[in-house]
Amino acid sequence: MTQDTMSLDMYVHGEWRAGSTGDVVEVINPAKGELLATVPNGSQEDLDAAIESAQEGFEVWRNTHPRVRGQIIYRIAETLKERAPEFAELYSLNSGGSIGTGMWTMNDVAGRRFEYYAGMADKIRGDSFVTPGQFLSYTLREPVGVTGHIVPWNGPLWIGSRTIAPALAAGNSVVVKPSSEAPITLLKFAEMAIECGLPPGVLNVVTGRGSGLGDLFTRHPGLDGIYFTGSTATGRRIMENSAGNPVRTVMELGGKSPNIVFADAGMEEALAGAILAIFANSGQICVAGSRLLVEESIHTEFVGRLAEMAKDITIGGPEAEALMGPVITARQKERVLDYIEQGKSVAELVAGGGTPSDPDLQAGFFVEPTIFDGVPNDASIAQEEIFGPVLSVSTFADQDEAIAMANDTQYGLASAVWTQNVMRAHQVAGELRAAQVYVNHYYTAAFEVSRSPYKASGHGVSEGPDAIFEFLNQKSVSIKTGEPPAW
Ligand code: NAD
Repeated sequence: MTQDTMSLDMYVHGEWRAGSTGDVVEVINPAKGELLATVPNGSQEDLDAAIESAQEGFEVWRNTHPRVRGQIIYRIAETLKERAPEFAELYSLNSGGSIGTGMWTMNDVAGRRFEYYAGMADKIRGDSFVTPGQFLSYTLREPVGVTGHIVPWNGPLWIGSRTIAPALAAGNSVVVKPSSEAPITLLKFAEMAIECGLPPGVLNVVTGRGSGLGDLFTRHPGLDGIYFTGSTATGRRIMENSAGNPVRTVMELGGKSPNIVFADAGMEEALAGAILAIFANSGQICVAGSRLLVEESIHTEFVGRLAEMAKDITIGGPEAEALMGPVITARQKERVLDYIEQGKSVAELVAGGGTPSDPDLQAGFFVEPTIFDGVPNDASIAQEEIFGPVLSVSTFADQDEAIAMANDTQYGLASAVWTQNVMRAHQVAGELRAAQVYVNHYYTAAFEVSRSPYKASGHGVSEGPDAIFEFLNQKSVSIKTGEPPAW
């Protein structure tokens, strides 16, 4: 893998567009701590240009036959899969995940989503209702308009595709603001999508810092909807910003997901699942299983084995194909280490607790896989999203206590249950207040079914057939067909 510093512009109306001020944001390779690229730090003028482009693009796209829209979106899916190695490398350089994760992201996540919503483009229909001799009423399902998408750094395409694909299928135009930490993949993707036949203006990418361009973006009166994925704190700020110009918002925010292991679980699968749940991508996954709740009777053996397994976890840069890569920034590394220090004062450290000693990993932002046992449920490491490789383990006596502890959090994004008792699995799944429940596995979600976050994890529908409604306005039309009776 080569690493020459890239200098990229924004992508607006099917062209590369330099920033109006010349100010840039530096993008760092987290595995090496080196400058990877610069992108413009976008201004109001740049944003206005992108939104104007999207308004023009919208007029073309909404009037494009839905079948043709579907064909173009399908071409995007196929091209992304063909070019997966190139996009996987960009993802790895910028977000720090392994090339294997990048390939899976392009083929089985982002590629799959564009494929899925391509098929939906010409299946958006309304309902009709006849009041005999009086009215014919029907719904028109129309695109929302210019949709603004704000995407976190941890999966620019893997997360970005979740809103961009259905937005396009429903006939909307899109302006994306990627994270200033990881803008490269989405910029290159926009160019690829236009080459696949998307009309200019239908997909635009603006770059800049969240605290500057992000605030301008979410206050912009030209947006008809805001689709945000990121932290709960930023989500709250965006809702405040957009309140002055009330538009539809969909919020996919943070999590602190419980992973519940009952004594009757398959021990080997549950151990492997618990490791994957928190240490894959160094815990930087919104649905990471960061709280492990273990039934008392198996706790000693389970945690002992987990701590042994943590010692064998591979850590390295993207080429190493390790389970754990770096965390995204030097600042995030300090934040994670600070949480580890807090953990040491309230719980027992049973694995990790610092940075790896390997000399090759000193320049990058690496943290050891860390496990705390006996964590009180009200401790900061059990309640706050760390977004790093830190696992909090607590025990429970029975099913009711497990459910109560699992739900005792401000978040409601994901959860998992490990048991061989099918009745218990359904009972617990029904009681958990979370958008996703994994039973006897972790992470393997079906994109084809819809879900909504609970509590501080956000609102709105993601994935599957129902997500399309977040990108449509519903209009009812009633036609008088006869004389209604007098009231
Ligand atoms: P973040 O909230 O710091 O940033 C997310 C995006 O918001 C970035 O593009 C950033 O530039 C932008 N932003 C920041 N301030 C802004 C502002 N004032 N106005 C508008 N935009 C602004 O999150 P992050 O560190 O990039 O990502 C990690 C967070 O994202 C974690 O909390 C994680 O749980 C969450 N996340 C959630 C999901 C999900 O599906 N629910 C998926 C991935 C990540």
